[in-house]
Amino acid sequence: MRSKFIGLFLIVAVAGALACGGLSTEPAPTLSMNGESATTRYYFEPGDVVDTARQEAFNAWALTRLELTLPRKIEFRKYSSRSAMSRYTGTGNTNAFAEPETFRIHTIWPWDNHEVVHIFSALVGRPSDFFNEGFAVSFQADPMNRDFTVRFNGMQVHEACRGYRHGGTLPLPLSRYVTTAGFRALPDDVMSYRMAGSFVLFLEERYGLSRVLAFFRASGRDDSLATIESKFLQAFGERLEEAETGWLVSLQ
Ligand SMILES: [Zn+2]
Repeated sequence: MRSKFIGLFLIVAVAGALACGGLSTEPAPTLSMNGESATTRYYFEPGDVVDTARQEAFNAWALTRLELTLPRKIEFRKYSSRSAMSRYTGTGNTNAFAEPETFRIHTIWPWDNHEVVHIFSALVGRPSDFFNEGFAVSFQADPMNRDFTVRFNGMQVHEACRGYRHGGTLPLPLSRYVTTAGFRALPDDVMSYRMAGSFVLFLEERYGLSRVLAFFRASGRDDSLATIESKFLQAFGERLEEAETGWLVSLQ
């Protein structure tokens, strides 16, 4: 997701990586704080590694883009493996998840450019999972290395969707998938995350990040399709179908 190195692991692991948010966890009393920055407190086991420089560069870049100041620090909890994460949190069927209500993320990656975005965007609003996950994916860049290509599971998201489109497998129309239930019903999680990421990235590129954030502000996780369509029109000045057409043209 973030590098060729860890991309190998994501192929097998991504299927379980979709439970971002909404999971309750036990306290992890023995995981100690081993570092602290202006935005983040880092918790990990002795001998484990966190790439704080890369994380700090990401946080600074994302928060600047979002024009956000954190009201409290992120709690970055790093585990050496899924089984270690399971020991501490009771959740071991995913690589990472976020708990925006407590500003806490749990991850097996040395740095994270997805779960923290859930923390940041929750300060603005919480739309359906399609838009919420698409937004987090649309931020999957690596500012420390000046790599702003948005990838999910190793592929640039527009390129991936262009391939799905040409292969006739891109799930359409979007109106079937923009609700939380519609999005979560898609069987191919890599495809659904790339699709949501590509569409939200398109919205940022075409209409601007401020309109995407206005949509977040107005939206709720369990909004119906009719509500989503109404809020979409208010935020973007065009109907969802019109934006979808523009997105598909951009993929040609
Ligand atoms: Zn997520």
